[in-house]
Amino acid sequence: MFVNQAADLVIQLSSSLKTKPDVGEFGIVFTDHMLTIEWTATKGWKAPFIRPFGNLALHPASTSLQNAIQLFEGLKAYRGDDNQLRLFRPMLNMKRMAYSAWRACLPAFDQSELLECIRRLVEIEQDWVPHSDVASLYIRPTFVSTEPSLGVKKPIRALLYVILSPVGVYFKTTDAVSLWADPKYIRAWKGGTGDCKMGGNYGCSMLAQHEAVDYGCQQVLWLYGDDHQITEAGTMNVFLHWINENGDEELATPPLDGIILPGVTRRSILELGRKWGEFAVTERYITMDQLCSAVKQQRVKEMFGCGTACMVCPIGRVVYQGQDLHIPHQDAKVTSRIAKELTDIQVGGRTNIHMHEYMQTHTDARCFPYSSVTAGRTSVCFILPSPSGFCFHVLIAYFE
Ligand SMILES: *Cc1c(COP(=O)(O)O)cnc(C)c1O
Repeated sequence: MFVNQAADLVIQLSSSLKTKPDVGEFGIVFTDHMLTIEWTATKGWKAPFIRPFGNLALHPASTSLQNAIQLFEGLKAYRGDDNQLRLFRPMLNMKRMAYSAWRACLPAFDQSELLECIRRLVEIEQDWVPHSDVASLYIRPTFVSTEPSLGVKKPIRALLYVILSPVGVYFKTTDAVSLWADPKYIRAWKGGTGDCKMGGNYGCSMLAQHEAVDYGCQQVLWLYGDDHQITEAGTMNVFLHWINENGDEELATPPLDGIILPGVTRRSILELGRKWGEFAVTERYITMDQLCSAVKQQRVKEMFGCGTACMVCPIGRVVYQGQDLHIPHQDAKVTSRIAKELTDIQVGGRTNIHMHEYMQTHTDARCFPYSSVTAGRTSVCFILPSPSGFCFHVLIAYFE
């Protein structure tokens, strides 16, 4: 078994550092360095390499370009009120990345070792993490086949790399977004790859996205099946806070049945909502018929999208089969409460972590070689001091 070992990391620092521009449009500015790790079927993983940011040299027949054998992840490093840097539940991203890799027939990698390499990269680029509670450093792990072949087959060469981009708020307006819902385009289907972060899922959504703009909307509300189930909004998971058909107050999101991307934000919101215990928090199907009647009967309280890029994004309008559904959003209490509680965890480290989840998911002792744990009633962080003494908090799990 070949694994990528963080201990073998080779670091080549850039001799000319860029000036850091103001954070503008999402994902167009990159930091000075990147992490690359090459793999071949015969030799396994090479030593991880942190080196100056630059173009890749790819064979034009690479099957990542020809057959879309590739995938990515998205997480953020946040600068806290205390000037510490934190990642939010990063092992969930590593796990999801490993699942996408399995689905793409790309090789397995050691998730903890990759996270440690990412931590080192962020540590080197720490000055790029914005000093702001609305901006952060977006981390984009990417995994591509580099096999130079026009044949459609399992890759024997691949490249895993990680690039970093300082980002601000994702949507240009903080107002609620409007969604266009039309069953003629389908984002994902049973047996497909909708539950993986693969580039192909997004490239093929562009046309629908443009049509949504033609209809005066900002994003697509993706539907599925003959009953027009609500699945996702743009590249976000979607939640509905409403009085359901039985008259019960409920925070609902579609279940992970293979066509929904298992978002870290989605999971965290479910856990938060269940911890509050103030109303039902469910994973269930919601059809457009159900939404339409709920809007008419004024049973909809709020609707929002969620994901790492935007965190939570209120939805104000859904355009569906000639109907213009207005979703309440002026006084979106649950949306803003979630935004506040998540921000508190991400930038403030104010959290109720319990050790159980840590034990369950991170029993691997190699997981965090430098980890020391500070435990308190209201705050448990996993502090990973680097050799230079710089402390790096990794929020692995939280909630009591
Ligand atoms: C990334 C993504 C999400 C959100 O996932 P997070 O882990 O919360 O960032 C939701 N839907 C789709 C389609 C995505 O690609």
